[in-house]
Amino acid sequence: MKIYPLAILLISSTLVLSCSEQELASRVETAPASAESADSSPTAEIEAILHEHIAILASDQFEGRAPATPGEEKTIAYLQQQFEALGIGPGNGDSYFQSVAVTELTTASDAILQIQGSDYDASFSYGNQMMVGTQQQIPYVTVQGSDVVFVGYGIVAPERNWNDYANIDVTDKTVIILVNDPGYATQDPELFNGNAMTYYGRWTYKYEEAARQGAAAALIVHETGSAGYPWEVVSSSWSGPQIGLQAANLNADKNEIEGWLTLDSAEALFDGAGLDYQELKAAAAQPGFTAVYLADFKASVSIENSVRSSESQNVIAVIPGAERPQETIIYTGHWDHLGVNVELEGDNIYNGAVDNATGTAALLAMAHLHSQQTPPERSIVFLAVTAEESGLLGSLWYSEHPIYPLATTVANINIDAMNVNGIMRDVVVVGYDSNELQNYLQAAATKQDRYLRAEPNPERGYYYRSDHFNFAKAGVPALYAESGEDSVEFGMEWGAERAQDYTDNRYHAPSDEYDPNWDLSGAATDILMFFDVVTTLSGESTFPNWFEGNEFKAIRDASRAGL
Ligand SMILES: [Zn+2]
Repeated sequence: MKIYPLAILLISSTLVLSCSEQELASRVETAPASAESADSSPTAEIEAILHEHIAILASDQFEGRAPATPGEEKTIAYLQQQFEALGIGPGNGDSYFQSVAVTELTTASDAILQIQGSDYDASFSYGNQMMVGTQQQIPYVTVQGSDVVFVGYGIVAPERNWNDYANIDVTDKTVIILVNDPGYATQDPELFNGNAMTYYGRWTYKYEEAARQGAAAALIVHETGSAGYPWEVVSSSWSGPQIGLQAANLNADKNEIEGWLTLDSAEALFDGAGLDYQELKAAAAQPGFTAVYLADFKASVSIENSVRSSESQNVIAVIPGAERPQETIIYTGHWDHLGVNVELEGDNIYNGAVDNATGTAALLAMAHLHSQQTPPERSIVFLAVTAEESGLLGSLWYSEHPIYPLATTVANINIDAMNVNGIMRDVVVVGYDSNELQNYLQAAATKQDRYLRAEPNPERGYYYRSDHFNFAKAGVPALYAESGEDSVEFGMEWGAERAQDYTDNRYHAPSDEYDPNWDLSGAATDILMFFDVVTTLSGESTFPNWFEGNEFKAIRDASRAGL
């Protein structure tokens, strides 16, 4: 298929925008399944395909697409049916599914965190003052009378000569940890990666390290800037059923309690201990920080869980390569979202229209485009993964149980939350300059008269927040890029405003709903760009690699050397 230059894309977008909103909506509603519209430009066709799939996947009927619920049944059946309709075969032998064994824990929402000292007694309530949960796959966990220690950023990074646990044994204690890393806190480019978040700044790392240190409870202090999202995102994603991969040891090696404190709660707690939170936070960003006990405080908290073992499914389809079928290029997009929160008044369905009905619809649009090509030399795999919202679990499972060997997996192209605001000139690469796939992306973007740039908010740790990360950790070169904010029609400021509006008002909220008036010309443009990248790769015999100095290059080199 020909890749159309931006001039044509722009014309088509102008045409679409010149329609009245009703006309646009009715055009979308009446678009037939084949999505051939009167306007035969390539973005119009892709836009109609996207509108159709997003409207369905994000409808209330799909119940927010939570893994292991009726919403999953509907979603995966829909995906299978769509791949079949395109004539694209199953990707796992004769099945379109890969079973992912999961355990679902639902923590009772009445937990209380009690902190007592000789002159102090306070309790913090679940939801608006703190959130707690556990990864231990058992019905009841409790921490009683555990010493409370502030461990700064909670980082052990030998290569950076940094150890927040150097002079303290936190076995069975409750640790309080700052989110993000000292580089972000100081904005010193010499410290960690400066403003850009390292994996040490990611909350998942904080719990992993606290568990290695033997802590009973690990509580992270939430701050909107350094976490990258408001408290409501923590409270909504941590309430309701939590999914983990089934663990043979029931995760006995994890902390009994993992959780978050609001900034207000943390400040009050430190104040009660005669400590200044802000002062200690500043000290924690300096080398040589040592952990501090919060007076003689003891923490107690118990939680009851309902535990349910179940299965969820990755959905997988493949167009086999005609020349080198063992070499694969894998598109990923997570089909899951947060489901329904019955505790919530009013609209309690997390429809996840942008996140990630758009990306799931994009997989189907990609499949549509590739199904019209002559068969590629290499195989093209479409992998809609489950349980991304629960910690990238579907892609983790796939990377641990790959259906196509990782050593001959050429590339992963990940799509998570597409642009609904029209065409953007800039293409943001999350994890800029990490591997040679960026060169392919550069070529494709240039044809569209667009430019690449690094993510504007690397401190938010987006690199660790979607499914490509599990491919990267396994050495497979991964590309995670998306429309930026430089709107062709309305400029940069407007685009940034729209993006911020989404983060503030819809991200991981029931209001992330489908809107038939969305301008999907930008999403369609991105899809054509990725399609160009994959079309090029699928006709080559080269294996792009990570750039020199990248932390994943050694893993890839070892995996390729084993062939
Ligand atoms: Zn997502």
